[in-house]
Amino acid sequence: MSTAPTASPRRAFVTGATGQDGSYLIELLLSKGYEVHGLVRRTSSMNRGRLDAIKIDDELRKQRLLLHYGDVTDVACLARLILDVQPDEIYNLAAQNVRVSFDNPLYTVQVGGLGALNMLEAVRELSSKKSVRFYQAGTSEMFGGAPGTAPQSETTPFHPRSPYACGKAYAFHQTVNYREAYGLFACNGILFNHESPRRGETFVTRKITLAAGRIREGLQDKLFLGNLDAKRDWGYAQDFVEAMWLMLQQDEPDDYVVATGETHSVEDFLDVSFGRLELDWREHVELDPRFLRPTEVHLLQGDASKAQEKLGWKPTTSFAELVRLMVDNDWELARREREAASKA
Ligand code: GDP
Repeated sequence: MSTAPTASPRRAFVTGATGQDGSYLIELLLSKGYEVHGLVRRTSSMNRGRLDAIKIDDELRKQRLLLHYGDVTDVACLARLILDVQPDEIYNLAAQNVRVSFDNPLYTVQVGGLGALNMLEAVRELSSKKSVRFYQAGTSEMFGGAPGTAPQSETTPFHPRSPYACGKAYAFHQTVNYREAYGLFACNGILFNHESPRRGETFVTRKITLAAGRIREGLQDKLFLGNLDAKRDWGYAQDFVEAMWLMLQQDEPDDYVVATGETHSVEDFLDVSFGRLELDWREHVELDPRFLRPTEVHLLQGDASKAQEKLGWKPTTSFAELVRLMVDNDWELARREREAASKA
């Protein structure tokens, strides 16, 4: 059934549109009737899988989801696009990841740090013409090595432990500064790790669930990992993008921690995911020092009571449910891979 668009839908602009969070956020915004403009980096290979996974009527997708080539590091292109689109809400999700940031520190900071400043400048310019709200994707990695402070809340001091986290901390402070200096409606979400079947394949959770499925199907035998003792507060990405949207619906802009409040080690994640497939991870996992980091974040556990109180947000998916839905998805992928291989 196709739904006729209403007179003038609210307009959102999302950077990092092809990433895990971009795809879930766009899905949420489309379901709420927004017209969504996604910023997509031009790369040599197409990277639209997650956007294709968005569940939406084809006609509505054509009318309401518009993609633009561009890059947050290119301030001229950004300003032109944002002034052209005139969005009501802007979500800045573009970023590299922690592991990559040790190998490409400069580019990581250009995207995650200076990219946010470019966005803020464009928002500032647009805000002289119309009212606009800005969301900056902060991260629990900014807490990094804060000693003896768990759970971490909005008042916990930052101690970033990777080029990625340093760039994000810079973006956080610029966002607060632009809010105070120019009165922008700008919010920082400090999101703890959030995963899903759309998670990138190099993050530890997805790496584990993909391997567990393939091991179960006899497609591989070993899984090489780094530090199994690290503890993370892992939530479900679909729950977390709702908090981003809620921040921009408030009367006043503010910064919020978004987390489940629980923490689990990488080893716990292995136990639950391999256990679901009746496998013993100890027979398959081996240490590869290449996956150890020059500086590690040992323990993350968030206190999201402010988000709960002020946004009325709380996670709906438990750790066990999250692992189950990722394992089931990736086991199915492995089954299909095995069947395809047996027909070839
Ligand atoms: P991050 O918290 O944003 O860095 O998310 P990741 O999923 O990349 O890493 C979570 C934790 O898992 C970190 O403490 C890593 O050191 C640890 N870890 C252990 N083995 C691996 C691995 O093979 N790949 C990744 N990405 N992380 C690993």
